[in-house]
Amino acid sequence: MNAACLFCRIVAKQIPAAIVYEDDKVLAFNDINPQAPVHILVIPKAHVAGVDALEDYAILPDIFRVIKQLAAEQKIDKTGYRAVVNQGRDSGQAVPHLHFHLLGGRLLHWPPG
Ligand code: AMP
Ligand code: ZN
Repeated sequence: MNAACLFCRIVAKQIPAAIVYEDDKVLAFNDINPQAPVHILVIPKAHVAGVDALEDYAILPDIFRVIKQLAAEQKIDKTGYRAVVNQGRDSGQAVPHLHFHLLGGRLLHWPPG
């Protein structure tokens, strides 16, 4: 828990979020500023600043299991979806707690720009 970190505070339930999945290691909640009909953030509960700071790679299978499960629940598994991470300045990463964006429900353009 990093008390200065927005997503750690969501994990600690100090800040409300529309939580769609939770277990002991992973939390998922709706993005507050959705960029697609489905826009969910999937995060490790333990604070990791981003991909560049990742050391516990064992969290990744859990995160992708949740992404797959949520895609099926949201009924975007057949139409397709995008799971992406922003890392650092040039990506536009705004929150320094590792998060995977799960986006779907519309045609997603590539490259994202
Ligand atoms: P990134 O640019 O990859 O760091 O993405 C950060 C994401 O967090 C953005 O899509 C924001 O809309 C989202 N966000 C910021 N604050 C909140 C919040 N309190 N609850 C849910 N999503 C948030
Ligand atoms: Zn954090």
